[in-house]
Amino acid sequence: MARKSTGKKEKEKKKMAKKKRYCFAFEEGDGTNKKFLGGKGAGLCTMTQIGLPVPPGFVITTEANVDYIDKGKFPEGLMDEVHEFMEDLEKKTDKGFGDPSKPLLVSVRSGSAVSMPGMMDTILNLGLTDETVKGLVALTKNERFVYDAYRRFLQLFGKIGLGVKDEGFEEIFEAAKEKFNAHVDTELTTEALKDVCDRFKEYIKKETGKPFPQDPWDQLYISIDGVFGSWMGKRAVDYRRQFNITPEMALGTAVNICTMVFGNMGNDSATGVGFTRDPGTGENVLYGDYLINAQGEDVVAGIRTPRPLRELRTDMPKLYKELEKMHNTLEKHYREVQDFEFTIERGKLYMLQTRNGKMNAWALCKTSVDMVKEGLITEEEALLRIEPDMLEQFLHRRIDPDFKQEPLAVGISASPGAATGKVVFDADRAEHLGNEGEKIILTRVETKPEDIHGFFAAQGILTSRGGKTSHAAVVARGMGKPCVSGAEGLDINYELKEARVGDVVMKEGDIVTIDGTAGAVYLGTVPMLDPDLPKALNTLMEWSDKHAKIEVWANADTPDMAAKSREHGAMGIGLCRTERMFNEADRLPWMRNMILADTPEERKRWADKLMPLQREDFVEIFRSMEGLPVTIRLLDPPLHEFLPSIEELISDVNRLKDFSQTMYALEQLPGTVTVLGPELYKYVPSIETVTREFGQFKAKGLDQKLLKQKEKILRRVRVLTEYNPMLGNRGVRCGISFPEIYDMQIQSIFEAAAIALRDKIDARPEIMVPNVCTVQELVWVKPRVEKLHKEVEKRYNVKIKYKFGTMVEIARACLRAARIATEAEFFSFGTNDLTQGTFSFSREDAENKFLPIYNTEGILEHNPFEILDELGVGRLMQIAVKEGRETRPDLKIGICGEHGGQPQAIEFCHKIGLNYVSCSPMRIPIARLAAAHAAIKEKKGLAAVTRAL
Ligand code: PEP
Ligand code: MG
Repeated sequence: MARKSTGKKEKEKKKMAKKKRYCFAFEEGDGTNKKFLGGKGAGLCTMTQIGLPVPPGFVITTEANVDYIDKGKFPEGLMDEVHEFMEDLEKKTDKGFGDPSKPLLVSVRSGSAVSMPGMMDTILNLGLTDETVKGLVALTKNERFVYDAYRRFLQLFGKIGLGVKDEGFEEIFEAAKEKFNAHVDTELTTEALKDVCDRFKEYIKKETGKPFPQDPWDQLYISIDGVFGSWMGKRAVDYRRQFNITPEMALGTAVNICTMVFGNMGNDSATGVGFTRDPGTGENVLYGDYLINAQGEDVVAGIRTPRPLRELRTDMPKLYKELEKMHNTLEKHYREVQDFEFTIERGKLYMLQTRNGKMNAWALCKTSVDMVKEGLITEEEALLRIEPDMLEQFLHRRIDPDFKQEPLAVGISASPGAATGKVVFDADRAEHLGNEGEKIILTRVETKPEDIHGFFAAQGILTSRGGKTSHAAVVARGMGKPCVSGAEGLDINYELKEARVGDVVMKEGDIVTIDGTAGAVYLGTVPMLDPDLPKALNTLMEWSDKHAKIEVWANADTPDMAAKSREHGAMGIGLCRTERMFNEADRLPWMRNMILADTPEERKRWADKLMPLQREDFVEIFRSMEGLPVTIRLLDPPLHEFLPSIEELISDVNRLKDFSQTMYALEQLPGTVTVLGPELYKYVPSIETVTREFGQFKAKGLDQKLLKQKEKILRRVRVLTEYNPMLGNRGVRCGISFPEIYDMQIQSIFEAAAIALRDKIDARPEIMVPNVCTVQELVWVKPRVEKLHKEVEKRYNVKIKYKFGTMVEIARACLRAARIATEAEFFSFGTNDLTQGTFSFSREDAENKFLPIYNTEGILEHNPFEILDELGVGRLMQIAVKEGRETRPDLKIGICGEHGGQPQAIEFCHKIGLNYVSCSPMRIPIARLAAAHAAIKEKKGLAAVTRAL
């Protein structure tokens, strides 16, 4: 498409008639409007406007892309505007687009509102043609540089603009390297590069049936078209789906057209990417990689292994100083760590991109605290910039520091944490094996965006090329997965599915351990340690508690878990599941005997044996949680869960029944041996010993006694077996059916409290009744609690303060909350059961049977056992909160289902006025931060709208 000349008047007329404006120069675009200009465009506009050196350029808005997708073609007037802005660029740069005497070259880069690293496309050096190449050679006197730029453009343009397969370009390039005996790209001579350009053009012609377009306007048109099209490309669509990027967050890509600057114009030129602070540790130092005499994508693609940015201080001290200045300007403006791209062309610095830096949780915590101290941000902002789930990264394991073995290979510590898994060399296979439950280390020379599914499946990523800002490093860090990049000692051969390090060969399927914190690779498994929480987290947690309204408690069943919970800052125990205390090897037989007892008296005898054990545990828990409430739930699961399975029992009974026959056969064996042959005679004495001892066992009738016991258990298990045990005799129903069990538990709680109090430990028991559906159940239990309370107080001569409350985990309990609150001093939502009951989905079966299908079919957006169903379950909770507090205004209400540790649910609980959330000890920091987020967002009017409210 040749450039059309439009008369000035006509142009004016069109401008007037046009409703929308699609192009904005960097000097005028609104840098705060990322949705309109895309993140990259917004950054370029802002940088230009705050005085940073950005090459001249303009942005085509995301709106243009949306209109393009709508209409299936370029929106009317767009190319006229592009022409105008290109003319403006020509003026600003004193160059001409397609003018061989002083050619203007531009980059065409995509950029949507949400960063999608490597998911969309960029074309560099646009404007190069056979003609302008000659002109540029004359101008730069650097033929090699020009042909290097040309071959890069041909490849990117061919791939993105014309849809020609990239592999063909790679093959031609690798063949040229071999032919011209070059190990790295920079060793290719001008002749070699010319040869590559010719072959690229031939390849394009062969693949598209048309010659490579020699008109730069055609190139520009095709490239904009290519970038627009990439928004709906498979890679981008998959990425948006995977990361839940909704149209509200980002709709369409902008196209940034920017004057080219070159980092490959010789040794006074360079290109690099960096962060204003170390994204791995959060340290306030310029961090990143650069390459001398190279162009942008060389750094990111990991084709050459770049050098750390700090070395630029000695290589180009003046420019390093400029970068440091730029660091301050950027951070002062954005009040956030920035991730930037720069190019140095013949000693002059240019900024090409900036965006908020993605960091791991360590770095986020440290920079949050540091930036508050530096006065850059407020405490509230510091908290809000960390997504609570990010703290999950502290759960990563690390290699035991006492482990001193030499690593097999070393590389760059690209993303922290350690992981062990099978070496797999391609992403498809990693995905396949990962789905089968294998642990995988995705091992590649370098990774590309199309490997993303392999990342999801892998425990960790290992590459033999690339630096800290290579694709592998950026993506792994974002996912919180360990990554070692640039392990150059690793010679990977995809064909043979192996990697060699000297004489050591690592085949696909071999076990390897990577340490992304140290950048080391080990063969086999390595001892690992659980992680510690970073120092800055303490400060952040203090701030969180200061801002949060809802408290964070813990679900802890054992003294150890209680201690851990307190360490992590729990303000109480919201759920102590007592049944877990009965499952230990020394307790289970007594528990079984208690269940099997024929009479209440016998049951009480066994319960009395269990009582001191349970009491001891409670004393320890009270000790750990001194001064804080400890909510102890009375026994909840159906009793048969403590008994062996029917199948196991039937098999035992059959064996015991066959024992007489087995004995008869043993007695016959010595005689049979005489028939079988003399070589077996030597076994006769041992057979006779065995027979004698087994005979004595039988003579005492021990087998019959055992048989009777097993048969009795079998009968009892059959009686206790239910069709729907989760809806059967469990919780308070079981407590009412077998009162000795609850009596024993209540007594041990009070006795433990009495013992603790005598030792001057401020024990605060809260007795919680599970699975309540009517207030009458509480009316039945409460007097027993009161009676035992009095007795224990008298016996120990202490005053025990306690609370009596209930789980709210049955839909009816929500609807009858007003009545239930007449007896209960507190409610705790058991959202696991409440979800089960509200949906009538079995908690044991739904998640691996039909829920995945429901999610993929879009019938349910989420798994409701994971993400609280605010519309249904949440609605019931709201009713219970409102009506419960109408009866008892000071009713304390919490949540102890799994949702209690989930940030979105915590926000919901905050909104509906719960007093606390209770979650597993390891999620406490996440929950504390989420609790602060809920309060701060509410205060700032940023809270998500909840439809149920
Ligand atoms: C619940 O139902 O949410 C709950 C905490 O109890 P459990 O998971 O033990 O049934
Ligand atoms: Mg429950």
